[in-house]
Amino acid sequence: MTSNWTKSDWRAKPRIQMPDYTDAAALAKVEEQLAAYPPLVFAGEARRLKAELGRAARGEAFLLQGGDCAESFAEFSADTIRDTFKVMLQMAVVLTYGAKVPVVKVGRMAGQFAKPRSAPTEVKDGVELPSYRGDIINDLPFTPEARIPNPDKMLQAYTQAAATLNLLRAFSTGGFADIHRVHSWTTGFAEEDKAAAYRDLSNRIADALDFMAAAGVHADEIESLETVDFYTSHEALLLEYEEALCRIDSTSGLPVAGSGHMIWIGDRTRQPDGAHVEFCRGVQNPIGLKCGPTTTPEDLKVLMNKLNPENEEGRLTLIARFGAGKVAEHLPRLIETVKAEGANVLWVCDAMHGNTVKSESGFKTRPFERVLSEVREFFACHREAGTVPGGVHFEMTGKDVTECTGGVRAVSDEDLSLRYHTACDPRLNASQSLELAFLVAEELSANREAARKAG
Ligand code: PEP
Ligand code: MN
Repeated sequence: MTSNWTKSDWRAKPRIQMPDYTDAAALAKVEEQLAAYPPLVFAGEARRLKAELGRAARGEAFLLQGGDCAESFAEFSADTIRDTFKVMLQMAVVLTYGAKVPVVKVGRMAGQFAKPRSAPTEVKDGVELPSYRGDIINDLPFTPEARIPNPDKMLQAYTQAAATLNLLRAFSTGGFADIHRVHSWTTGFAEEDKAAAYRDLSNRIADALDFMAAAGVHADEIESLETVDFYTSHEALLLEYEEALCRIDSTSGLPVAGSGHMIWIGDRTRQPDGAHVEFCRGVQNPIGLKCGPTTTPEDLKVLMNKLNPENEEGRLTLIARFGAGKVAEHLPRLIETVKAEGANVLWVCDAMHGNTVKSESGFKTRPFERVLSEVREFFACHREAGTVPGGVHFEMTGKDVTECTGGVRAVSDEDLSLRYHTACDPRLNASQSLELAFLVAEELSANREAARKAG
């Protein structure tokens, strides 16, 4: 990547959205411990993901990136991981079928613990306490003790990430993700219409597999039908943790973030001269950059040069998150900047973060209609510009939660209190996720059809 970089250079830059640990000795001890632990991912895997993202940027693959807003220590269980993984597989089947291109599957998992917050403190009944910043930093309960940042929590996050990744690797290659099991990835709480559409798709896939077998092509000899590649990603927000897990790749001699395959820079921490950009520019992993309404073409230009000076394919993913009704106002100027620079980027739509509202009953929610709208607007802008809409990024869970309103199973404002479990932002439930996948598949097959007609 870059020769004039070390993993601790970010420390000399302005840092925001990071905790001020009070016990420097305890922090140093944790950092030392983490630095001695094995990395969670390896450079070769990050490079393979980079190549796949490069294909997505050219329209030869499609990125599906999803998972929790914030992974929590309390909700950590094999079932939770399995259910999220299942829904991702279901969505990938729907997308592969619609788009006829491979789907690159990346979880917001095994490291998605640290959260930027809109305010540094929270006030309740006249009491002011530091904000909750994710389980890797402090605790959710509204008490002074819970909100003190505790460096030991990084060790628990590392352990949970390692165990999550271990299970994901087992699910990906140990038979669970075998395409012959396509019928078994249902969750039991998808809305009947979409569940039926999924069953129909599964039947068609099973038929195709039978046909291949009869024709002498044995799917059990084709590894890509029996296993999947599943990658991990998270926001690289807590730089002490990221630095401690940064390693030098023995093959290339270059630094690599060992905390996850892909890391991204959030909408609040993308200052071109800030600490987060400084850390991310030096590691060879694929990097995501959130682009919101306040991203200017000038900043984007500087950021693209800093984060991808060699204009490498698959290195930089721009994650657009403007909000429904605002995409046409903001995205075209950024697309123009990318075009003018001749920059290689992968464009992805985060249809969640621009659509958060407070419901009448007081819950932070996202109307599903707005999520769908933003996806449609994203596709429309790219159609207009002649550029590639290369993926979607969203917050979801395989559980039957009631956090986002709407969907065919119609979660109402009154329903929100029933199963509102998120540690941070509201997630799509299994049914809404599947519905979203069908919409994206429609958009992709419409694009395919248009390209075919155009010759
Ligand atoms: C997130 O992805 O959870 C997040 C905080 O997003 P953004 O930085 O786009 O607001
Ligand atoms: Mn979020």
